[in-house]
Amino acid sequence: MIVLVINAGSSSLKFQLYEMEDESVLAKGKVERIGMESAILTYEPEGKQDVREVSEILEHTTAIRKVLDMLVHPVHGVLESAQQIDAVGHRVVHGGESFSNSALVNEEVKQEIKRLFDLAPLHNPAHMLGIQAVEANMPNVPQAVVFDTAFHQTMPPVTYLYPIPMVLYKKHKIRRYGFHGTSHAYVSERAAAFLGRPLRELKLVTCHIGNGASCTAVMDGRSYDTSMGMTPLEGLMMGTRSGDIDPAIVPFTMGKEDLTLSEVNSMLNKHSGLLAISGIGSDMREIDEARQTGDRNAALAFDMYEYRLRKCIGAYAAAMNGLDAIVFTAGVGENSASLRAAVCRNLSFLGLELDEAANDRRGSDERAITTPGSRVQVLVIPTNEELVIARDTYRLILDRNDVN
Ligand code: ADP
Repeated sequence: MIVLVINAGSSSLKFQLYEMEDESVLAKGKVERIGMESAILTYEPEGKQDVREVSEILEHTTAIRKVLDMLVHPVHGVLESAQQIDAVGHRVVHGGESFSNSALVNEEVKQEIKRLFDLAPLHNPAHMLGIQAVEANMPNVPQAVVFDTAFHQTMPPVTYLYPIPMVLYKKHKIRRYGFHGTSHAYVSERAAAFLGRPLRELKLVTCHIGNGASCTAVMDGRSYDTSMGMTPLEGLMMGTRSGDIDPAIVPFTMGKEDLTLSEVNSMLNKHSGLLAISGIGSDMREIDEARQTGDRNAALAFDMYEYRLRKCIGAYAAAMNGLDAIVFTAGVGENSASLRAAVCRNLSFLGLELDEAANDRRGSDERAITTPGSRVQVLVIPTNEELVIARDTYRLILDRNDVN
């Protein structure tokens, strides 16, 4: 079965084409700057030369058509016909309380995703454009949706409720949802396999640290708590997001700086975090380099980032009354040996012993970076959200075929 995985943003669309028999990637790529003057299509077919094309792509339907054209192109293509695509799986950021699992797209599911626009105004409308664009180009191909929030629907009220008037939850569903769920679920399963123990017996903290960052307490094989909340702004310090701050800063800053709500929102989402403290940028590579050449602001940004992450790990060890392993994943988690080392060196009270050489070794394999005697294991596990989306889509199609 061939599955196309799509992650549609408001002006971008990433894709990966899988052969599910051996879970191999046949091609991947992205379309950027949709709706702008010159859109860019980048395409990487397996075993063939990469292609980069600049053209006018005004909306998502055209973007999907261009992708399909590329996939069946006589020179660059990997398929003989677009009809070979059996199903399409979409990443959807917000599934609210309605979706604790992936689902096949039908009218009801689409209506529900639309009802959730309020909770994810930047993301869900873009995903809907992606779904509609596939419908327009491939009307008979089944589609599935895989939600970033689904894994965290197992959180109990004690961790998902905010201590604010209950009526806000009842009327507006203001509660903590959590994100990056596909990644947290994937790396926790991989961690259990790596450790050779059943997931339901493990207490894990999974740290998905990329541009956006969140950590999750995984207990009994489920998400028990996670650092992102109603939106991805809560929790850890991130590349450009503040993470946790005193909510009273919002009205105070609006008054002092004469800012509108949307300006403060943009400040906290786009102009805070590593970027704000370092004054350099949001990329951990740049911060780390600058810090090592003596830049004090970069050093402060790094230390704050590390401190807030370590506090979250410590809090979750307390929340679960124990900790078997910490998992690092995503851009920073997989690549920044210095961040991992700083976190681990300061968790020695847990009996955690870092293997410095293993931590410094670069690679894209799954690996432990603690000594064999370490009481808490620390693992680096590359995430693969696209593969999870492809697998869920595949499983839903097989289940549907079984029923019919
Ligand atoms: P996204 O959240 O957009 O999916 P990624 O998971 O790809 O992001 O992470 C991107 C971030 O990973 C970059 O901003 C960069 O800071 C970080 N990163 C990538 N490579 C390295 C590296 N070698 N060292 C430190 N940080 C890195």
